[in-house]
Amino acid sequence: MTDGLPAAMVMDLRRYLTQGMQTLLRPVKLLRGSGRLARVGPRLAVAFVLVSVLLPVIGLIAEREQRLAAARDAQAEAQQLARVIAADIADDVHAGRRLDPVKIRAHLDQLRSQLGGDVEIVDLRRDSVAGTTPEGGPRLGVDADGQISATLRDGLARTVTPEDTGLPLKLVVVPIRTPTDGIVGALLLDYTDLYDEVLSAGAHSRRMTLAAGLAGMAAALGLGWVLSRGLVRDIRRLTQTAAMFAEGDYDTRAQVKSRGELRELAGALNTMAERIAERKAVLVDLATTDPLTGLPNRRALRTGLDRGLDHAKRRGTPLSLILLDLDHFKTINDEHGHLTGDAVLRRVAEILKAHLRSTDLAARYGGEEFAVLLPDTGSDAATRTAERVRVALSAAPIEFQGRSVRVTASLGVVAYPEHGLTTAELVHRADAALYTAKRAGRDRVHGPPAP
Ligand code: GH3
Ligand code: MG
Ligand code: MG
Repeated sequence: MTDGLPAAMVMDLRRYLTQGMQTLLRPVKLLRGSGRLARVGPRLAVAFVLVSVLLPVIGLIAEREQRLAAARDAQAEAQQLARVIAADIADDVHAGRRLDPVKIRAHLDQLRSQLGGDVEIVDLRRDSVAGTTPEGGPRLGVDADGQISATLRDGLARTVTPEDTGLPLKLVVVPIRTPTDGIVGALLLDYTDLYDEVLSAGAHSRRMTLAAGLAGMAAALGLGWVLSRGLVRDIRRLTQTAAMFAEGDYDTRAQVKSRGELRELAGALNTMAERIAERKAVLVDLATTDPLTGLPNRRALRTGLDRGLDHAKRRGTPLSLILLDLDHFKTINDEHGHLTGDAVLRRVAEILKAHLRSTDLAARYGGEEFAVLLPDTGSDAATRTAERVRVALSAAPIEFQGRSVRVTASLGVVAYPEHGLTTAELVHRADAALYTAKRAGRDRVHGPPAP
């Protein structure tokens, strides 16, 4: 057995830890390679397994080191005792290198109370000279692997582990040496590792500790699984909500079960969604409203027309479109100024709204052109509405900054499915109807010319 050196112990410990960590981390490396460790669930599971496994491994390593240290202590103690007895015996050796069995036996009898194990003295031929084992009992000096002969030859102390005793026994062999004659024999002393005795005595409590450790490990793994499951579920929910936001659904709200950071994150996501929805509403309003009249603009009319047509086709209902263009509007601008022209445009928007149902959609189509979409309305009813608007416009002069301005409009009316089946067709024919009204003398309502 090697003598105990702290440096060697540290090296051993380091080697065990390195090997242990490599073994434990091998599945982790495989998982990382497959990209699964990027997910929270597997990460937490690996962390829990590592911690649960690492703690008992460190415990086992520490226990092994403790056992080795105890063995080294016991060995050093036994060698020291054997050397002291061997020195005493050497003092009694007669000249001529003869070991005196009677003197030695008397000597051993005196020491018996201090001896932990049995002692045997052998001469240079390895014959037993004296010992504490009972007469005819088992001999210590059976030199199975030549260790005793080696000590007799080179005078170095040795520790031998007898193979066939079945006991945790060890044997220390030290030379008996006199100043004049050199080595005259060897002293054999058996001893037990105290730790081994303790080990066999505490087997039951160790099993209990191991069982408790395993149960604790299982509990830790179970707890880890439950905790990670809740976290992973909440993170999935947040991801789904974020995906809904990305698709433009800002009415969805993020909800998590766990408290703390994830709940804060859910709150932050919800606030973000509210703000985005508010800003989006402002942008949509800006993009679809005419700032002068407050009416929907051409883009909004186009969307409304597409939707209305879809609806009408699905339900088999009619839909009408009126295009309205102010007559000689340029003259109004020229005679009364651009601001008066603007006031006229605003007033036209008011008159339009006043003569339409809430389901109708009036829009500013261009400079001094307006459009009205009338769902569930055929061409006759649409023509009547157009006529009412025309009359209302021409009837009352528009007052602005002390000026009184008269304005008339020409209107073209078309209806789905009577005059067209697509948005483009309907707009084109409404334009043609409007042009016809202009050509016919303005201030009038006209249907589309025959194709
Ligand atoms: P017509 O009877 O043939 O329609 O004659 P018009 O003068 O109404 O038609 P024209 O297309 O010659 O002129 C339209 C005018 O509308 C020209 C433009 O300066 C004016 N206009 C367009 N947008 C605005 C606006 O926002 N405010 C004002 N004040 N004028 C506008
Ligand atoms: Mg015009
Ligand atoms: Mg005009």
